[in-house]
Amino acid sequence: MRLFTWMYPDFERMSQYTTGAIARLTRMAADGVFLMVPPETSVTQEEEVEAACQALAGEGIQVHVGLVPFTAPASSPAHMQARRYQYRLEDETHYDRLCPSWPENRELAVQRAAHMDNAFSAAGVHLDFIRYYYRNSDQFGYSLEWEDGRRWVDTYLQCRCEACRGSRQAITATDGVSAYDTRHPAFIFKQLQARKRSIDETILGMRKVVQGELSIASRVQYLNRALIEGQDWIEWCRGGVVQAVSPMNYGTDIEVLRRRIRENKRRLGDAPVEVLEGLAKKSSAGANSTQALIEQVRMVVQEGADGAAIFPFHALEEEDLLALAQVKRELM
Ligand SMILES: [Zn+2]
Repeated sequence: MRLFTWMYPDFERMSQYTTGAIARLTRMAADGVFLMVPPETSVTQEEEVEAACQALAGEGIQVHVGLVPFTAPASSPAHMQARRYQYRLEDETHYDRLCPSWPENRELAVQRAAHMDNAFSAAGVHLDFIRYYYRNSDQFGYSLEWEDGRRWVDTYLQCRCEACRGSRQAITATDGVSAYDTRHPAFIFKQLQARKRSIDETILGMRKVVQGELSIASRVQYLNRALIEGQDWIEWCRGGVVQAVSPMNYGTDIEVLRRRIRENKRRLGDAPVEVLEGLAKKSSAGANSTQALIEQVRMVVQEGADGAAIFPFHALEEEDLLALAQVKRELM
């Protein structure tokens, strides 16, 4: 089995961080890291990240530099701010990241991936949040992030940016969207089709310009989440667009995790992709003890995964590192 982890470096003290991280990764017997790098990183920081890539590779640890492609920089100009995801919650307008409905945002995402591929001597580029970024309201009574909710599209807070409003109005041919429209199968079909096109265009564009591998962190719930957010990752895997996938199978109930990996395995069939199942030591889906995490690693490998990617590296304690190395030896 192969063992990866998501790493969020301390960019202020990068060289010290790398030295400590390599020692910990070695104790963990890690095969690779998803090294997350913000797109607005300075040239100096990029040089330090590149030094980290080389140091990690020198220790036999494969690096995928990680990108959140629709990030909005802290000091973005007004025209870019207008292209952010915009939603209403409790009579207030909120903004978050860049909305993939804008061609400019999709082009920027592709450029960012190309830049990371060029700037660093990593084996690949890893994508997180390669999808629409919707959130749900607490008023729905459960968290769409992780629970197997049975209410779908209408439970998301729709993006109200100009591009998204325009595309909805083009479907309904009215100024607004009624509650009836939002439940109409044809309206839902057109919305999902538009989202899929946006994200497909982005990742296919990246595949053309990135020389190395592409890996992704994907929504573990393919029907309930991924497809609604334009992330048709099963199709990308089957079509060879991505070389490695980490479905974020985060949680504390091992039987739920087992059901999800089995479902996705049936969907993937014999897709030419490495499955590094995403497992969480600690996430918004809960925290796992060392023993629980190791049981999950054992389970996903027994269910046919090529390995596991652990989230996040900084939450792993000494006991976890040693137990991960041990279970890897056992499962080899
Ligand atoms: Zn939008």
